[in-house]
Amino acid sequence: ARKRDGKNGVQLFDNNMVDIARKRLETEQFIDQGLRDDWFTAYLQPIVCLSDGRVAGFEALMRLNHPERGLLPPAEIIGIAEENGSIGRIGDCILSKSIASLAVISKLDGLSDTYLAVNFSPLQFEPVLPNRLAALLLENGITPSRIVVEITEAVLMLDNPVVRDVLDALSELGCRIALDDFGTGYSSLSYLNRFPVDIVKVDQSFTRSLSSDQPDVRRKSRMLVEGIRTISHQMGCAVVAEGIETEEQWDILQAMNIEFGQGYLLSRPLPLDALLQKLDEFTMPARPPERLAAAS
Ligand code: C2E
Ligand code: MG
Ligand code: MG
Ligand code: MG
Repeated sequence: ARKRDGKNGVQLFDNNMVDIARKRLETEQFIDQGLRDDWFTAYLQPIVCLSDGRVAGFEALMRLNHPERGLLPPAEIIGIAEENGSIGRIGDCILSKSIASLAVISKLDGLSDTYLAVNFSPLQFEPVLPNRLAALLLENGITPSRIVVEITEAVLMLDNPVVRDVLDALSELGCRIALDDFGTGYSSLSYLNRFPVDIVKVDQSFTRSLSSDQPDVRRKSRMLVEGIRTISHQMGCAVVAEGIETEEQWDILQAMNIEFGQGYLLSRPLPLDALLQKLDEFTMPARPPERLAAAS
């Protein structure tokens, strides 16, 4: 019996390996074909001003829209795309599509000043990026100050001179830099000092803990978010809270003087058509809030 168990164990393990390899190969094929057949799209999620609910901007979130499998989320794509080198082409596709979408949105009443936040992988920080971005913006009639480049600490941790130069060039172009998922990585605070960061995005795990059932978790996460806010403001950065799902979280963050928020409570990430319909619901005029306008 022991032998059989052992054999089954080995078999199970082998099958898992095969499954993982097969899944990976499949994803690589989806990526290749997706780039050829135009399956990649940029969903957009509104980012609103917490004091009055006006739309301040949109975050572009990549989706691979497979004709049979439906939408594949970035979590299934990005790691593999970074490893096999296709992230550059995917990123460029998302960048050009989301900028084109912003140009469409800009024609709507009161939305001409809204910004676009785009996520970047470390590998996308190539020397050509600032010129490429500048060309796309010119083509679409968008000023660089309406672009927010979202990076995580993974980008800054590389401590690579090319990355540094590209970030500086993007900043000089007039784009703003947002530090994403703040508080979840390593030595976050020093990055605020060493890089041209304009916006801090409080990770959604903090937002979730703010409305925890456990009073102790609530109390402590409130202190953490207040601490992040205070430091960010003192460093001249605006703050965006991610992952707002409940009215309670909204109220807490608003009372804390956090300027901006995004989350399912307001809107899920949507394709452009659906977003344009949804935006009719946000009737208030959207001009860039003071802090952001001042930061640009
Ligand atoms: P992120 O930049 O922190 O984006 C926020 C994630 O939270 C998105 O997941 C969004 O759909 C999700 N989200 C928004 N509101 C809520 C909410 O209220 N509750 C919950 N539970 N989730 C919410 P998504 O779209 O799956 O993207 C995951 C991550 O993949 C992003 O995290 C970003 O790091 C990366 N990513 C997305 N698009 C791109 C891209 O075009 N390029 C690169 N390099 N990375 C991307
Ligand atoms: Mg982001
Ligand atoms: Mg984030
Ligand atoms: Mg995240």
